[in-house]
Amino acid sequence: MLEQTGRAAAPEKSGNQHHALQVETRLRVELKDITSQVARLVERSGIESGQCHIFVPHTTAAILINENHDPALRNDIENFLKKLAPASPDYQHNDGNCDAHLKAALIGASKTLLIEHGQLVLGRWQGIYFCEFDGPRQRNLRVKIVAD
Ligand code: ZN
Repeated sequence: MLEQTGRAAAPEKSGNQHHALQVETRLRVELKDITSQVARLVERSGIESGQCHIFVPHTTAAILINENHDPALRNDIENFLKKLAPASPDYQHNDGNCDAHLKAALIGASKTLLIEHGQLVLGRWQGIYFCEFDGPRQRNLRVKIVAD
């Protein structure tokens, strides 16, 4: 994952930060754990208390917060989504990736996390996943860190 800073569309208020990250995915469906990268941005921001907004500007990718301890859970989530949105030629959006759009719609394109004591607030077993549903691709991810 490459980091590009300073690409904010508008000047930031003092202390706030806007990061544009590149995420490379290697599989058609891939849940990629990005917890440590986001946590590092928060720690480096120096912001003690605030919010961290994470946004995926794509229609076939998403952001998920869930357990990142047992890797088997990733397979279970992927299989569950596959049952809900199987690959099929019968969709009206017929460019071959409608299943990916439906999975992305279920998970959602953004999350907001809290920052306390200079750290992301996450439960002991929680992690942040970039969800690829129509890869492999070069993807973008926006992270905005806002002080209270
Ligand atoms: Zn499409």
